[in-house]
Parts: sequence; structure tokens; C-alpha cells
Amino acid sequence: MYVDVIVDILSGETDRIFEYSYDGDDIRAGDRVLVPFGGQKKDGFVIRVKPDADYPPERIKRVIAKLDDVPALTEECLRLAERISEAFFVGKAAALRLFLPAEMRRGTVRAQTVKYAEYAAEDTESALSSLRKTAQKQRAALLFLSGEKRARLSECNAAFGAAAMAALAEKGFIRIKEEKSGRKPYTQIADLEKPVELTAWQKRAVESITDTEKQVTLLHGVTGSGKTEVYLSLIKSVLDRGKTAILLVPEISLTPQMLKNLRGRFGDACAILHSGLAAGERFDEWWRLRSGEARIAVGARSAVFAPLENVGLIVIDEEHDGSYQSESAPRYNTLDVARFRADYNGAKIVIGSATPSVESYKRAEEGVYNLAKMPERVNKRALPEVEIVDMRREVRRGNNTVFSSALKAELDRALSCGNQAIVFLNQRGYSKSVICTSCGYVPTCEACDVALTYHLEEGALKCHYCNAKYKMIEKCPVCGSTFLRYGGVGTQRAVNELQKLFPAARILRMDRDTTQNKEGHLKILRDFAGKKADILVGTQMIAKGHDFPSVTLVGILDADMSLHFSDYRSGERTFQLITQVAGRSGRAGETGKVVLQTYQPENNVLRYAVNYDYKGFYESEIALRRATGFPPFTEIIRVLVSAEDDGKARDALKTVYDALNALYLENAAGFRFFGYMKAPIKRLNNKFRYQVLMRTNLKGFKYRVREICAAVKIRGVYVNVEVNPNNLT
Ligand code: ADP
Ligand code: ZN
Ligand code: ZN
Repeated sequence: MYVDVIVDILSGETDRIFEYSYDGDDIRAGDRVLVPFGGQKKDGFVIRVKPDADYPPERIKRVIAKLDDVPALTEECLRLAERISEAFFVGKAAALRLFLPAEMRRGTVRAQTVKYAEYAAEDTESALSSLRKTAQKQRAALLFLSGEKRARLSECNAAFGAAAMAALAEKGFIRIKEEKSGRKPYTQIADLEKPVELTAWQKRAVESITDTEKQVTLLHGVTGSGKTEVYLSLIKSVLDRGKTAILLVPEISLTPQMLKNLRGRFGDACAILHSGLAAGERFDEWWRLRSGEARIAVGARSAVFAPLENVGLIVIDEEHDGSYQSESAPRYNTLDVARFRADYNGAKIVIGSATPSVESYKRAEEGVYNLAKMPERVNKRALPEVEIVDMRREVRRGNNTVFSSALKAELDRALSCGNQAIVFLNQRGYSKSVICTSCGYVPTCEACDVALTYHLEEGALKCHYCNAKYKMIEKCPVCGSTFLRYGGVGTQRAVNELQKLFPAARILRMDRDTTQNKEGHLKILRDFAGKKADILVGTQMIAKGHDFPSVTLVGILDADMSLHFSDYRSGERTFQLITQVAGRSGRAGETGKVVLQTYQPENNVLRYAVNYDYKGFYESEIALRRATGFPPFTEIIRVLVSAEDDGKARDALKTVYDALNALYLENAAGFRFFGYMKAPIKRLNNKFRYQVLMRTNLKGFKYRVREICAAVKIRGVYVNVEVNPNNLT
């Protein structure tokens, strides 16, 4: 037998197919093998098994060993990896890696097994009488197992002694069996719940999705309209037809809650895949899916690569979320991968959101996607009322705290009624940097050239891009002034001020600092849901998904902060954020209230957001995009060139630019912008960064850009192509 192998090395030169020979016929496409490669032993993926070789057989090396009993990759995985490799310019090995848990590649994790003792005697009486009178422990163990039939060997050993158990096994009265044990994450498994009766809107949505001929349905449902229940219902009918399903959620934060719903409905049929799990857990969950034991995969973006066969449905919840785009290598777009899988399996895709991305909504309007709407909340509860507070007036009145008097009054009211409140800070890209108010000096990271962030607990300045830590300064190193001020509002500052205003209130804080691990994160949510706190203060992490029935008030401290970012999507992001945050308020009995603090109360986007007018927002936004020539009317393509050696980076930039410029000059009419410059962050992780930035309506231009960039191979220089990146840093 001969096999085509992709050697598991991430390098341009080795990223092709190599032939090996194999003795035996127990090898299949998808198997992982150990092969000789350049004088070393390397792992590889078999992508094809064939009777003959293309190379002269005497020059072909032999596979050293087959690594797994079952092929790690399915036929579908191999095909998808090929498509991904072509569509996103990802290396073959890198594309295949996407389908495997990292633990498996390193071979460090084995499936955990548990040994069981099983009762195997034909007749207890005769077995007992065959044992010596003095063998008390064997007798006890046999009696115990004749009742239990089966128990963990470790527990039997502890109770009766390993010698007695071994003796019983020797005599054939018990059998020792070894089985894979699932290390199940989040083990608070709910009892199996009955599905609820769907509302009329939910029924209509399910029907629309079931009946449509289109591959993709956009489920546009306001917050609280019960999108999850629609997903569960669709998943159920997919399972009933013997197929499998994938449910994607945007961030780690959502997964446990979603999983609880799923476990409640489907029991062990669902498995969870995400980076927050311990290595062993992740491997086991992956294996449960690969072996067919679990048929629903739930997780963040990477769960789209779940090793399921016969996929009938892929759900992408909160489809507008930026995390569905992979921003580091291998760069891919989750919806595109989902479409590849849906093509292969004839599956349906549902993308759901209360605030769809402008791109998706446009496709739905044009009829490319099926559109299902749920314009009402379950039980027709009203959406919370939003009050806009002009912070400029607060400042004029001499209020220099971050809480307006209106928000203070509302907090007071909510707390005195025994309700809960959420205080939200918009921190994306918003720095808590230190500034000298005398001369304007801002401390920056030596390696990255970005402003440092002050961390109160550690009394230190930290770089968020390389994690470097610096001592907090007491006075300005440039002018010697001691008038230092921290920039915007941090969660810690908000908590401190809040605690002064409401000394009796119990306050929880949730941001990246308090949620280093999944447990920390879960604990905060659990405590808040269990009413162990009155106010939850947090960042983006609390904006989405969570359902807290006692929350009647949401305060948004700096609603317009994101409007000032130099990003063409700031309006969209702001609208989404406000809608999502407001959706946290008043989900159960009482109508909720939202207080939105802003320095730009007249802003259009805020107006649409407080009126929950998605359509109005969409129409004004799409008109703006058309006029200014931004996506979805164009594609933004950025070629990022970086190197530790500035000269090399500049040389590479020139090479790339010259090649692209020639193409550009041929097609100049199809461009809104073409140019090169230093990247906004000029230096990151000791690398100098330059970019060629393009905005074009030429379809497929990105493929030509990628070809050009793939040809630039200079040692120590990195050339990356990004299409509509989430942020230009
Ligand atoms: P969305 O994701 O659209 O914001 P959720 O799926 O979180 O909304 O649902 C909002 C609330 O309504 C949840 O508490 C959910 O349990 C409840 N709910 C959803 N569907 C129904 C239904 N058919 N009957 C009763 N309650 C429902
Ligand atoms: Zn100074
Ligand atoms: Zn740094």
C-alpha cells in the first residue's frame, strides 16, 4: 500500500503531499501516522490510500507507525481542510490541525479509562461454597457484586482489597472491564426538561426555517424573543432524523448557560468544545463527538470544526459578533466554514441576532438568505424604556463622578425595591492610560509603543499587547509634575465610586481581570443570578446572553465611547452594544429601565438604539456605507508586513507595494483607497509594522493579493493578508 501524507509542520516549503509506503491494509484516509522526514520522525496525516506510487518505489520511505486505532479525521474533514486551505490561503497542515484538539497532536493526552468489576458467577451459592471459609474479603466482595452486578474497581479495591478482587477475577467469578470515562465539564446536569410550548412567532420561525430552500436563514428576533427555544426545537427535529447539529455561541461566557439548556433538553447527547476547558476535558468531549456518542457540538467559533458526521444543522447565535472571525493565523470566517460543511452535508444554517450585522441583513433583504422575524418578546413583555442623560450638563453642574444624578436616583429606586442592577462600561479599545495633565506625557510600552494601562490592584502599569509590567510612576518623568490622571473609566473606579454612593450595596465586578479562568467567570454569574449581589459592574462580557430575571435597571456609563473609534463599524457596534445591554433589563416580571449616559445625546445611532429601531438604523447605515464606499459595498484588504528588523520590513513592504501597485494602476477605477503607511501600532512584540491598505469593489481581488503576498518569502518577515478585519491596530 502507498499513502499520501501531509506532514504536520507549519512551513511553506514542506506544505505539500509526500508519498510513503505502508505494510498492511489497516490504513485509511484520515489516519495519523509517524513518518521519517528530513532525518527526523514527524507526525503526518494520511489523506489518500492507493495501490501504486507516483515516485519510483525504491525511493519511497516507509510509514514508521500508525498512531490511532480509529482515523482521527473523517472524509469530510479532509475535504473541508482542502477547501479551507484554498479559500483562506491557509497551509494544508494548518487547515488539518483545525479539526484536532491540540492535545491529540502532541500525543500527551490519552483517553481516560475507568476499570469496572462485573459480576460473572453463574450461581452465587456454588461460587460462595467454592471459596475457603477464611477468604472473608472475597466472600464479601462476591456478595456485594451479586447485588450490584457492577461497580468501579477502584472502589471495590478500597473496600475489599486488591488481592481479593484479583483472586475473584482469577476464578472467573468477576470480570474486570476497562471503559473510557468522559471527563464531563460543567457537571451540574439538570434533569431532563420537557420542551416548552412554542409561541406563535417561534412556531412561524421554525416553520420558515424548515420549509425554506435556502441554505442560510437569518433569524432576526428582538432580545427576549426566545431564539434559544427555536434553536432547541430545530436541533431536536434534526436529531430525530438521525442527524447531528452544531451550535456556535460567541464567547466563552455564553457556553455554560447554553450548555445547561442543552443538557437539560438533550442530556449527554451534547458535547462542549472550547478553549476554557482543561486539556483532558477537551480531548474527551472531542472524542465523544468523533465516536458518535455525542451528537450536538456546542462551543465558540472553533466548534464549527467539530468531528461530527452527517451534520443537519449549524446554528450561529449572535451572528454579528466579531469573534466569529479568526483574526490570527489561521485566519478564517466561521460562516464560510459553516457553508462548506452545509454544502457537503446538505445541512441548513441558522444565523440569529437581535442586531444582525449590516452585511447579513443586506443579504437577507436581497433574498440571498431566508429571513425569519420574531418582533415580539415572549409573553409580549415590553422592551425596557431607555432614558438618555446628557453628561455635559452633569459636568457643568459640577458632578465629576462617573454617575449622573439620574442614574443615581434609578439605582436607589431599584435597590430599595430589592431588585438588581447592571452597570455597563464600554471598554473596547478604551484606555485607562495615565496622562500628565501638565505636559501631556503618556507612559508607553518599550516593545510595543502603545499606552500602558494602570492596574490598581497590582499598583502597576501593564501593556495589554505583550503583558509587560512596569512600575507605576509617581511623577511625570518629562516635566516632573505630580498632576497625573488616569484616562477613562475603569471597572475598578466605577465599583469604588458606586460603593461610596451605596455603602450597603453588594457589588460584583466582572471583567478580564476577575475572570482569568472559567470558574471565576461562572462563579460571578452564579452569584449574581443567586442574588448574592445587588449590582453587577462589567464590560462587554456582561452585554450578551445572560438571563437575570431580577434585573430591572441597566446603566450604560459611556454609551458613546465606541462612536469615537476610528472604525467604520463604530455606529453598528454601538447600536448592537446598546441593544444587547438593554436586553438584560426587565426580562421577567417587571418592565425594565435603561439609563444611557452620553456626551452626544443628539447622535443618530443612539436615537435609533433607544427606540429599538433596527430597520431605521439599518437604512441610515447602509446609505452611509454606500456613500462612503465601505463594506458591504467594498472589501477592505490590509497587507500587514512586520519584522524585528525595520530595514527588512521596509524592503518587504516595498516589494509587496510595487507588485500591488502595478495591479492597482490597471484597475484604479475599482478602488476607493489604495496606499501604504505605518500600521496604527507601529511596533508590536518587538516587530516593526507597515501596511498596504486597500478598499475595493473588485470581486476576487483579495485572491490576487494573497497570491502576491504568498510569493514574498523573506526570512524574519511576516506578511499577512486580512480581509475586513475587525480592527486595524
Ligand atoms: P433571546 O435569545 O431571543 O434574547 P431567550 O432565548 O433568552 O431570548 O428567551 C428569553 C426568555 O423567554 C427565556 O427566559 C426563555 O426561557 C423564555 N422562553 C422562550 N421561549 C418560551 C416559550 N415558548 N414559552 C415560555 N417561555 C419561553
Ligand atoms: Zn509631564
Ligand atoms: Zn508591550
